[in-house]
Amino acid sequence: LTHSPYEPLHANTLANRLGGLPEMTERIGPATQWRVCEIGDGNLNLVFIVEGATGSVVVKQALPYARVVGESWPMSLDRSFFEHEALLRLGRRDPGRLPQLYYFDRHQAIQVMEHLRPHIILRKGLMAGDRFPLMGEQLGRYLARTLFRGSDWAMNTAQRKADLALFAGNVELCGITEDLFFTDPFHDCARNSHSPALDRTVATIRADRDLKLAALELKARFCGSAQTLLHGDLHTGSIMACADDTRVIDAEFATYGPMGFDIGSLLANLWMAVFAQPGLRPDNEEARAYRLWILDTAETIWNIFVEEFTRLWRCERNGILGGRELFEDQADAVGSELALNSMIDGIWRDAVGFAGIEMHRRILGLAHIPEFETITDEALRACCEHRALRAGRVLAVERGRFAAIGQVRTLIARLE
Ligand code: ADP
Ligand code: MG
Ligand code: MG
Ligand code: MG
Repeated sequence: LTHSPYEPLHANTLANRLGGLPEMTERIGPATQWRVCEIGDGNLNLVFIVEGATGSVVVKQALPYARVVGESWPMSLDRSFFEHEALLRLGRRDPGRLPQLYYFDRHQAIQVMEHLRPHIILRKGLMAGDRFPLMGEQLGRYLARTLFRGSDWAMNTAQRKADLALFAGNVELCGITEDLFFTDPFHDCARNSHSPALDRTVATIRADRDLKLAALELKARFCGSAQTLLHGDLHTGSIMACADDTRVIDAEFATYGPMGFDIGSLLANLWMAVFAQPGLRPDNEEARAYRLWILDTAETIWNIFVEEFTRLWRCERNGILGGRELFEDQADAVGSELALNSMIDGIWRDAVGFAGIEMHRRILGLAHIPEFETITDEALRACCEHRALRAGRVLAVERGRFAAIGQVRTLIARLE
């Protein structure tokens, strides 16, 4: 079997290169009528919208380097394969919550998928003050279904080990997470940057032994726990939403890890959107109501996660960790519920800790977020970031002390 060598797509070569694919022409019509537009706004990959006579699709292609940095940061094309494998699994575990996949070419690192519209990137919606009434419930269920169904509670030994082995191959991206989340922000690393007005705060953080111990413990948890297949990059830029639908995209960081990682990443990004609001719009009644809506949504995500995880626990606990022999089969309903509660407590504690780390790495590390970056008043931006960092420290260091998600709301209110 011979392949033509890998070559990045361009808007003006795409129709030539992909025009023969029935997976595309059957959906969007003949290539002679395609209109191609490059829309990638992510950090790593090329993304195009291709519109034809009868529809449109999205084409995503990995580059052999990180798009945001350039060719000086080489990056394996294999991430496209892992993303595809992860999207397939996550889509099976929570049908309808991911884009449909139409075609994949491993050698060219190209995938063709459903063009989501009228969805917008959630992060942009949160910056604009948009509300998405169904998002909290849909994401809570997504988290419960994907995290539960990819775990030892649901999978048998053979499936589970094969899957674990497969995703163990996604070393490069997993390694990026290990460094960028858990280590870089906490020391003076060349890839980092921060607002100049935060210099003193940053010096304090990098001398904060308790915080660094928490970061190291959470890193050990991330690396050493293989509870489930994670999305691995579940921030508000990996979610597209509209009034009645929410979708999850961009799963190239998929890895086996602790359930709390996806949950904590997502919640942290919602909480950072709250901290950024004073820099994004005048502080009035409406802005306050909007902050409350984001906080309510974060609570809905967690509460629905618990509800759906509990339901799955009771009716789909058929994997390695089933445990019915120990409890239900011996007429002990309480034992099983105690195991469930202890599981959920552990997930929550992890999620709180990972959220605290995510808040640091988005303000001090390599990959910043536009919520803060677009605040042009330097002092105001630093003030928003400073509050988020204070919250992040409490979440990371005192992650065992948050008995319920309402306490995070109290913490945020105290810092506002
Ligand atoms: P990266 O890995 O480079 O971050 P993403 O998968 O996040 O790439 O895609 C980059 C951008 O392209 C997204 O932020 C979104 O705006 C757009 N996009 C990606 N997939 C789709 C899709 N299926 N439908 C519509 N827009 C999409
Ligand atoms: Mg992305
Ligand atoms: Mg990204
Ligand atoms: Mg990505």
